Amino acid sequence: MPLVPVPKPTLIQKLKRFFMVDLIKGLAMTLGFNIGALTSRDSVAGKGIYTEQYPKVRPDVAPRFHGAPRLNMDPETHDTLCIACNLCALACPEDCIDVLAMDVEITVAGKPRRKKVLDEFIFDTSRCMFCALCQEACPTYCLELTQDFELATYSRAGFVWNREMLEQGRETVKYES
Ligand code: SF4
Ligand code: SF4
Repeated sequence: MPLVPVPKPTLIQKLKRFFMVDLIKGLAMTLGFNIGALTSRDSVAGKGIYTEQYPKVRPDVAPRFHGAPRLNMDPETHDTLCIACNLCALACPEDCIDVLAMDVEITVAGKPRRKKVLDEFIFDTSRCMFCALCQEACPTYCLELTQDFELATYSRAGFVWNREMLEQGRETVKYES
């Protein structure tokens, strides 16, 4: 490979190097960012802290983020929207979901009928990859992956959510900011 001669610096380039113009420009930019952080509305209580103050301030996640699962209920009757169809469990490639159903006696037009209803719902968040295939498969929009990203727990058993946890959600700890 032929050697390429390095062009000689011009007088202006020499002067810039001598007076360290690029270094001063870089320092000015850094100073500008720091002053901006001190005065920004986003800084915490005007103290110039511009890193995320988690867990006191929880960040907003992307709109399409998939987090903690939830079983939605009818907002008026508070009955579950789950019809125990098992489609979510069948759609799950990780086998995270167990839907347990039971039959109940109901009366339709004066005649006794049997109806399948949800008994228990098990969702193993430790094996879930949050692909949302279960959410896509749900015909009643009952199963939803929310934007709650705080799934840490102290035991393996804590990763397995039952129906109550899925319907009520976990208690969110609030920290004073
Ligand atoms: S998000 Fe994906 S891996 Fe998790 S339970 Fe649903 S289908 Fe299974
Ligand atoms: S797909 Fe929806 S309605 Fe069917 S069992 Fe799962 S959560 Fe319930």
